[in-house]
This record gives sequence, structure tokens and C-alpha cells, in this order.
Amino acid sequence: MSDAIDSNRRGFLTRLSKPVRALSAEAEPTPRAAPRPPQAVDEALFERLCDGCGKCAEACPNSIVHIRESLARIDMDYNECTLCQECSKVCPTGALNLSVKAQIDLVPSFSQGCDNYLQLTCHLCQSSCKLAAIHIEEDELPRLETELCNGCGQCQSSCYVNAISMVAS
Ligand code: SF4
Ligand code: SF4
Ligand code: SF4
Repeated sequence: MSDAIDSNRRGFLTRLSKPVRALSAEAEPTPRAAPRPPQAVDEALFERLCDGCGKCAEACPNSIVHIRESLARIDMDYNECTLCQECSKVCPTGALNLSVKAQIDLVPSFSQGCDNYLQLTCHLCQSSCKLAAIHIEEDELPRLETELCNGCGQCQSSCYVNAISMVAS
């Protein structure tokens, strides 16, 4: 067995041995240690179920899923998530699960390089957001309605002046 596989296996077994608190409808979600694919189960359970097999990363048409420290995570620096569910469909362990409401723990952050803020009218991020989570008023930075946002990153891709970065929510 190679060192890499051995280390993956060791990491997986270590996580399996961790206690996990009971999850109930009232339980607070466990904070994410990193952004996960949109249908990842609660973080504590995810860390036990994901074995870093990489099937989700292979399935993602946008190449935004990567394996780090034997766990699947999202990197949205160069692309967005289309919520296509391909990663969830191929996950063999249930760590990504089609029954989970799609949500990535990221939100857009708007910089002062925004054209609208610089008095050059632009509404691109607002019109790209399928959930109508972005509101724009004249000469102001875009305003996010956080509770509507699912962290998909479509707004970041739409901004041609790179005034949006996706940050932890
Ligand atoms: S839902 Fe689709 S685009 Fe989003 S991370 Fe999964 S495979 Fe990639
Ligand atoms: S797309 Fe970019 S430049 Fe246009 S309003 Fe949104 S943040 Fe500003
Ligand atoms: S991340 Fe997606 S849902 Fe959130 S504001 Fe941007 S486009 Fe809308």
C-alpha cells in the first residue's frame, strides 16, 4: 500500500473514531472547517463519512471540487457552482446527499472597485443571481440579503471587474 493511501486510510479511521453529537432537527449546525460541496451533510457527520475518494471532484463539470486532507472541499476562485448535483449523485458514502438542501457556506463580498460604486452604472451581479439576493442602488455597493444567498458564486463570475470575492458566511 502506498504512503498516500496509507495516510488517507489513517485520516479516515481517525475521523471515524471521533465522537459525533446526536443530530436533531433543533441542533445547531456544526461550523464548516472549509467550504464543502453544496449538498454536504452536517460538518461533524461529513468529516466521518467523506473518505477522500475523489469521485465528486472527478464528476464536477466546473472543476471546483478538490480533495484536501482527505476531505472534499470547494474552491471557487476560478468558477461557480451550477448546483448540477453531479457531485452528490456519485458520492458512495452519503457525505454528499441528494436529500440535503443545497447551500455552500460562502457569500459574496463587494469591493470598492465595483463600477456601480464608482458611479458607472452596473447591475450584472444583481441580474445573475437567480435567488434575487442582491440589491443595487445608484452609486452604492451592492447589498446582499444573506438569508436568500446559497453561496453559488454566479455573481462572482458575472463581475467583469473582479469586485466580488466569495468569503466564509
Ligand atoms: S453541484 Fe455541480 S458544479 Fe456544484 S460542486 Fe457539485 S458537481 Fe460541481
Ligand atoms: S457586477 Fe461587479 S461592478 Fe457590477 S455592480 Fe456587481 S460588483 Fe459592481
Ligand atoms: S452567491 Fe449565488 S445566490 Fe448568493 S448572491 Fe451570488 S448569485 Fe446570488
